[in-house]
Amino acid sequence: MAKHLVLVGGGHAHMVTLANLRKFIERGHKVTVLGPSPYHYYSGMGPGMLSRLYRPEQIRFATRRVVEKQGGDFILGKAARVDAANRTIHLESGETLTYDVVSFNAGSYVPYTIVKDPANDIFAVKPIERLIEAQRRILQLVSQKKVAVGIIGGGPAAAEVAGNLWRLAKDHGRYMPEIRIFSGEKFMARFPAGVRKKAIHSLTRRRIGILEQGFVKEVRSNEITMQSGQRYDVDLIILALGIKPSPIFQDSGLPTGPDGGLLVNRYLQGHQYPEIFGGGDCIYFQERPLEKVGVYAVRENPVLYHNLMASLEGKGLQPFDPGGDYLLIFNMGDGTGILYKKWLTLDGRLAFIIKDYIDRRFMGKYQSIE
Ligand SMILES: Cc1cc2nc3c(=O)[nH]c(=O)nc-3n(C[C@H](O)[C@H](O)[C@H](O)COP(=O)(O)OP(=O)(O)OC[C@H]3O[C@@H](n4cnc5c(N)ncnc54)[C@H](O)[C@@H]3O)c2cc1C
Repeated sequence: MAKHLVLVGGGHAHMVTLANLRKFIERGHKVTVLGPSPYHYYSGMGPGMLSRLYRPEQIRFATRRVVEKQGGDFILGKAARVDAANRTIHLESGETLTYDVVSFNAGSYVPYTIVKDPANDIFAVKPIERLIEAQRRILQLVSQKKVAVGIIGGGPAAAEVAGNLWRLAKDHGRYMPEIRIFSGEKFMARFPAGVRKKAIHSLTRRRIGILEQGFVKEVRSNEITMQSGQRYDVDLIILALGIKPSPIFQDSGLPTGPDGGLLVNRYLQGHQYPEIFGGGDCIYFQERPLEKVGVYAVRENPVLYHNLMASLEGKGLQPFDPGGDYLLIFNMGDGTGILYKKWLTLDGRLAFIIKDYIDRRFMGKYQSIE
């Protein structure tokens, strides 16, 4: 019997399902995809888009076009809550959507808890498309005067954004900004000393400041206040600090992990409700908590595709194996990268060339279905 599959978010873990949407429809199922934008932006190339190395259209998938071309329905909107007992999704617009099987790939967000009013010229690194607005504003500012930019966060997103912002101003600005990373107590703390050292060297030799003297308490337009009480005047702030899974699940009273992500079993299937699935940053994988990196979302693709089809057709599910160590390469914005896998670290031009090749190939593969 024909069933209704709903995909909430067209993120990195839904790529294979989206590429094979026609197969669901050929089997008589109805497919609806819900997303706040007709496009999905690939985060791995986000910092490169900030520096204008890539154009926005090079780093995004035309989700709506891919869905409609294959006979699916695309709804422009955001899921706010799920009524799992009645298999109903409530949209922010007030509309509702019922499903037989649903899969969530709604990603993560940067919490705004430290942001106080007034809050102009404050941008977050997620959603990635916000970097387009940040870029526009930075270019406006650096064409007028020497400005100070504060980047809050101590991980790779902060490092990549700082390096690429430097690049943007260097290539397209009139005045070089003063860029400072407010990194808490230790910049790149979860990485080995070699990676940390390379990242610090790459940024500080371009006079990008890295503060490791404590955490930011609050920010408002043009001002950053530390927990120590010390204040910094800035013209623009970018929030690149600890992302959180989409709040949909906690707001719906669904079983979640300690971080608020949808609790899923080894089949990427929700607890209590076997017709709920999920992948990417918005889930909490019960067997082994996973880092919030796109690598896992990408690895989940084939299993999610198989299990959605199997669930609609009453067939057996496949377990997800997160696999071993993964490769990370940071785009430092000056034509160099820092590559890191297990015990291997490599920095310089070659690392960036490898990243650029992998990212373009990934985009090419999925853009070709558009
Ligand atoms: C600057 C930056 C650089 C990064 N670089 C890398 C990297 O090089 N390698 C790596 O492995 N990881 C990287 N990451 C981490 C990576 O971004 C995430 O792990 C990855 O985006 C997770 O993919 P996702 O599909 O789960 O979520 P997302 O990419 O956030 O996608 C979620 C999708 O769901 C949609 N959506 C959101 N809310 C709703 C809603 N309520 N209803 C419907 N749809 C919704 C969004 O529009 C979006 O299309 C980076 C992160 C940042 C911030």
